[in-house]
Amino acid sequence: MKPITCGIKGTQDILPAESHKWQFVEDIMRKQAESYGFKEIRTPVFEHTELFNRSVGDTTDVVQKEMYTFTTKGGESVTLRPEGTAGAARAMLEHGIYNDGYPIKAYYFTSCYRYEKPQKGRLREFHQFGMEVYGAPSHFADAEVICAAKSVFDRLGISGLSLEINSIGCPKCRPNYHAALKEYFGEHKDCLCETCLSRLDRNPMRILDCKNPECTEIAANAPTVLDYICEECKEHFDGVKNCLDSAGIEYAVNPQIVRGLDYYTRTVFEFVSNDIGAQGTVCGGGRYDGLVEELGGKHTPSLGFGMGMERLILLMESQNIEIPKPQTCDIYIAGIGDAAKLKAFELIEGIRNSSLIAEGDTVGRSLKAQMKYADKIKAKFSMVIGDNELAENKAVLRNMESGEQTDISLDDSFFSSFFNIYVENCNSKLIEQMNDSIN
Ligand code: ATP
Ligand code: MG
Repeated sequence: MKPITCGIKGTQDILPAESHKWQFVEDIMRKQAESYGFKEIRTPVFEHTELFNRSVGDTTDVVQKEMYTFTTKGGESVTLRPEGTAGAARAMLEHGIYNDGYPIKAYYFTSCYRYEKPQKGRLREFHQFGMEVYGAPSHFADAEVICAAKSVFDRLGISGLSLEINSIGCPKCRPNYHAALKEYFGEHKDCLCETCLSRLDRNPMRILDCKNPECTEIAANAPTVLDYICEECKEHFDGVKNCLDSAGIEYAVNPQIVRGLDYYTRTVFEFVSNDIGAQGTVCGGGRYDGLVEELGGKHTPSLGFGMGMERLILLMESQNIEIPKPQTCDIYIAGIGDAAKLKAFELIEGIRNSSLIAEGDTVGRSLKAQMKYADKIKAKFSMVIGDNELAENKAVLRNMESGEQTDISLDDSFFSSFFNIYVENCNSKLIEQMNDSIN
């Protein structure tokens, strides 16, 4: 059967059989973020368009080509967030959080919207996990954020990612670099795409980020930003590299990285994989010292990263990383006849109160079909209640794996008896699971 319409191109459904993968990854991200002292921030899916024009930058691909912008019935221009940083920074400012003392550390999970050509690892709705630090000028903060991102990959068991870093200078030294780029690209005007031509005057660094093959070829020989950064930026960059060295984190300096958003200053970095095809950047981040000021706040040196959830999960699949299967049903209670079904319903609800997974019939199946279903959902125990069981107020609890059967009373002692049997039988499994989650 077909629905009246299908999902929108470039979007993905995460179905119940897949969602445990996302939950597993999100749990680890949450734990890592919290162990680095970050707290979650949640912001709206849409914002005033102006926010992204100002922060992401109106000469970027994101703003020029990729935003989902529309006019509301009230005549306002709003945009579905293309990334998570601008909304977080706006919220911090609006609620005066920056007055609470520095550093402020926040992490987020957001859906993002970009009108791009859908392909493997590139969607129109995708998801990011991100971490942000506000009010931390020290290079230790850059290193801390890079370590935090790496800790997520390590915890997930992902290998083979390369960390590439660069410094793109600050407003003091960047004009020199812009001038050098303008001169260089000015000599190659004929080969640049139209968008790059329009960027040549206002923001020539954006040309380095263009994905058009001809522009990429010319950009490969462009002047290198590291030859133009000022003493302070150099010192800062050396500080970051020293910290990474001392933490034993391998990296390569890649002067080609400029990042796709305008708000970056100084440190920029990417974690890149060769295992998932052309869209190999799983995480991108860096410092954005001017962002908060750009949005109307005080000078607040800040930094962070965004990690693409879909690319990360693709990568885990390509590396055959085992993701723990979700818990299966602990007990299935079948009822035969209305009175027994009501009793089963009561017991099932009671068991669920103690956080175990209990199931019963809501379809109207025969006893045989119910047992088949209990098997299918891999219930650990099953129990049948019929007229006899009701009359005697006891039933037979069956361990579905071993076949072992135990009489169990259906009075108030049922829950504690079941729980004891459950713990006795599943103890070793529980200990295994606890060990897994600790390791
Ligand atoms: P790319 O160069 O691949 O277009 P980007 O520089 O535009 O990436 P960022 O804005 O830095 O990406 O976003 C951070 C991360 O979000 C990326 O490293 C990537 O993992 C993910 N990401 C970005 N765009 C998409 C997309 N369209 N579909 C899926 N994931 C994406
Ligand atoms: Mg992009």
